[in-house]
Amino acid sequence: MLYLRFHALEKRGLLYSLIMMNLSYIINHLGEERAQYFNAVSPPVVQSSNFAFADLASMRRALQDEKESPFYTRGCNPTVRILRQKLAALEQAEDALVFSSGSAAMAAAVLSQLSGGDHVVCVAKPYSWTNKLLNQLLARFGVSTTMIDATDPAHYEAAIQPNTRLLLLESPNSITFELQDIAAVVEIARRHNLRTIIDNSYATPLFQSPIAMGIDLVIHSASKYLGGHSDIVAGVVCGSKTIISRLFSHEYMTLGGIISPHDAWLMIRGLRTLPLRLSRSHETTMQVVAYLEQHPKIARVNFPFSPSFPQYELAKKQMSGCGGLFSAELRAAELGQIDQFCERLHYFLLACSWGGHESLAFPMSALYTAQTIIPPPRAAGI
Ligand SMILES: *Cc1c(COP(=O)(O)O)cnc(C)c1O
Repeated sequence: MLYLRFHALEKRGLLYSLIMMNLSYIINHLGEERAQYFNAVSPPVVQSSNFAFADLASMRRALQDEKESPFYTRGCNPTVRILRQKLAALEQAEDALVFSSGSAAMAAAVLSQLSGGDHVVCVAKPYSWTNKLLNQLLARFGVSTTMIDATDPAHYEAAIQPNTRLLLLESPNSITFELQDIAAVVEIARRHNLRTIIDNSYATPLFQSPIAMGIDLVIHSASKYLGGHSDIVAGVVCGSKTIISRLFSHEYMTLGGIISPHDAWLMIRGLRTLPLRLSRSHETTMQVVAYLEQHPKIARVNFPFSPSFPQYELAKKQMSGCGGLFSAELRAAELGQIDQFCERLHYFLLACSWGGHESLAFPMSALYTAQTIIPPPRAAGI
C-alpha cells in the first residue's frame, strides 16, 4: 500500500518525493501525447481497426514496427499504446502488452515459454483457469506440470526435472493468500536457467514489484484493481523488451486476444485513482480483519498483512500493502450456516470477481457445491 510505502520512504527525503512524483506522472501524463489530440486532457478512444498512410514509404515503416506504429489495431492502437506505457512503468518493466482478459494474458505468457514435452513447476491451487491451462489444455500438447506447496521455496527446486522450463508463482495465492518468497524462487530459477512468471493480480504493481526482484514475466487480471470499477475484463503481461517483443510477434499476434480501444480507455481512467483506491481499501480492510479476528464465530482470517498471518514477516519484506481481499473461515456446523451468513450481509453483494468499487462476498461453500455437479472432463479434452 502506498501509504505504508511512503511512510517507509519518508525518511529518505529525495527518493520519497521522486517516487511520489513518478507515480503521479505515470498515471496522469505518461504516454499521453496531448499535442497530437487537440491538447485534449483525456485521451481519445481511437476506435479504428486500421490506419491510412500518405505514401507507401511511411506504410512500410509502420509495418516494420507493428508493435509501436498504428498500422492495424490488433498490433497497435494509439489508446492501447498509452495504457501499455503506463502499465509497464507501474510494474517497473521495459514493456507491457494488454489482453482481452487476465486469462488470455496468462495463456499467452505461459505459451511463450513452452514447447511440447516441457515441464512446469507451479504453486498449488493457482487461479482456477491457470490450473486448467496447465493441467488440462497444455497437458493435451505434452506439457506436464508439478503443483507444489510453494510456501517453502525449496519445494520448487525439489520438483525441477531435466525438461523443466518454467516456475510459475501466484503470490499471494488464491483463496488462502499464502505467499512465495519471490527473491528465493528467482535465485533457484537463475541457478537452473529457468524462466519465472508471476500472477501479481492480488498485490498490484503498487504493493509488489516482482520485475525488480528478478521475475521474468508479470501478469495481471486488469479486470480487478487496475480497471477498478467492475466494468471491464482485461489482462496485462509485463517483461523485458526482448521477451515482450518475441511474445508480441508470436502469441499476442497469432492468438489475437487484444483489448478494445474503449476498454483500454476505461482502464486508463481506472488507473488515475489506483493509488487512492488501494490505500483506502488497505486501510478499511485492516479494520474489518481486526474486527473479524477477535469475533468468537470466526475461526481464522487469511490476510497477509495481519500480524497473525503465518507469513506476516515475508509479507512485510516483499509487499508494501495488501489491498482489500481476504478470506475468513467461519465456525459453522454445516454449510447452510455459511450461506446464511452471506445472505444476511448488508453492504456486500454476492458476486464473483474483486477489485471494484463494491464490496463482495463469495462463499467457497457455494463453489464446492458447484464443483460436485460439474461433470468431470472427458479423457480427450476439456
Ligand atoms: C480474475 C483472476 C484471473 C483471471 O483474470 P480474468 O480477467 O478474469 O480472465 C487471474 N488471476 C487471478 C489471481 C484472478 O483473480
